Amino acid sequence: MSIRFSRQWRTATYLPPLGEVSQRPVRMRVELRRDPLTGRSGRLAHFQGFRLRRADLSAEVASSRQHCPFCPERVLLVTPRLGPEVAASGRIVEQDAVLFPNLSPYDRRSAVITLSGAHFLAPEDIRPHHLVNALLAAQRYLTAPGVVRRADFGLVTWNYMPLAGATQVHPHLQVIATDRPGTLLEEEFRASRNYRRRTGRLFWEELLETERQLGERWIGAGRHTSWLTPFVSRSVVSDLLVVFPGQGSLSGLTQAALEEFAEGLSAALQLLAEDGVVSFNLAIYPAPSGQVDPPLWLHARLSPRIHFNPQIGGSDATVWQHLLDEPFMVRSPERLAELLRPGLRAALTLA
Ligand SMILES: [Zn+2]
Repeated sequence: MSIRFSRQWRTATYLPPLGEVSQRPVRMRVELRRDPLTGRSGRLAHFQGFRLRRADLSAEVASSRQHCPFCPERVLLVTPRLGPEVAASGRIVEQDAVLFPNLSPYDRRSAVITLSGAHFLAPEDIRPHHLVNALLAAQRYLTAPGVVRRADFGLVTWNYMPLAGATQVHPHLQVIATDRPGTLLEEEFRASRNYRRRTGRLFWEELLETERQLGERWIGAGRHTSWLTPFVSRSVVSDLLVVFPGQGSLSGLTQAALEEFAEGLSAALQLLAEDGVVSFNLAIYPAPSGQVDPPLWLHARLSPRIHFNPQIGGSDATVWQHLLDEPFMVRSPERLAELLRPGLRAALTLA
C-alpha cells in the first residue's frame, strides 16, 4: 500500500480536581495525524464535556430579511451585472438560481449565485434542485468566453450562515476563476503531481481503493461520485469528502453527475442538521484548466461549523486553526462516517 495513514499518540497526565473521589492520576490520549496527500498535520483531541447543540438562527433570519440584497424584489436592482460576452441579460439565471458579479471581488472573475428566492433555507430545506440549478449556473459562468483562462482553477465555495463566514443569511454560493486558488489546493495539486511522477499511479484512485478496503471512513460510491470522510478533517466534528473519479473540473460534469452530487449533499445536510449542525463551509476543488489527464480529481469538502459553547457564542476557529494551521477534531472522521453511512447509502443507493 503506498498511501500512508500516519498516526502517533501522546498521553497527557494530570492529577484530578480535589473534589473527585479518586485521586489517582488521569491519563488523556491525543492522536496526531498527517494527511496522506499533503503531509499536513492535524489532531484528534478530546474535549471535555463537548456535545453538539443546534444553534438558533431565528434572530439572524428575522433581522436580515427586510434589507436583504438577494431577495427577489431587490436582487436584479442592487447586484452588479455581467458583461454581454458572459451573459446578454447581465445575469445567469437557472430557474430560481441567479448568478451575478461579486460586488466585492476576490479575483479577476468572482461571482455570487443565490440558491433560491427564499430568504432563508434551513439545512433540511436545501433540496437537490436548488443545488443543481446553482451548479448549472456556475458551469455556464465558468465556460463563458474569457472567464477561465488556461491554468486557472474554477472554484465553487459556500459559506452557509454567519457562523461559517457568510455576510448574508440568504443562501448563496461563490464562484471564482483564479490561477491562485490558495495554499491548500496548490499543495494538493503539487502533491498529486509528485505522487504520479513517483509511483506512476493516481493518488485519488489509490485513495478511493484503499479507503474502500479499510472501510472505516468509507461511505460508498455512486455512478459519478465517491463518498467518505477525510483522515485529517478541518472541522472539529469532521468533514465529508466527495470525489468525482476521473474528473478535473466542475465544467466537465454531466447533468447526471451534478444531480447525484446534489442528491447526496442534500441528504448529508439533512443528516448533519439532525445531529445539530446548522452551519458549514463547502469548497469544490478542481485541477487547473487545460489538463487532459489531471493528476488531481475534482473533489468537494463539506466542513461543519459549530459553536463550541453556544451560551457565549463561542467560535470553533481557535488559535490552532487560525494561527497554527493545525486542525483538531473532537469527533473522529471514522465516527462521522459511521453516522452518515446508513442515511447516505439509502439516499444514493451507493455501492
Ligand atoms: Zn433574502
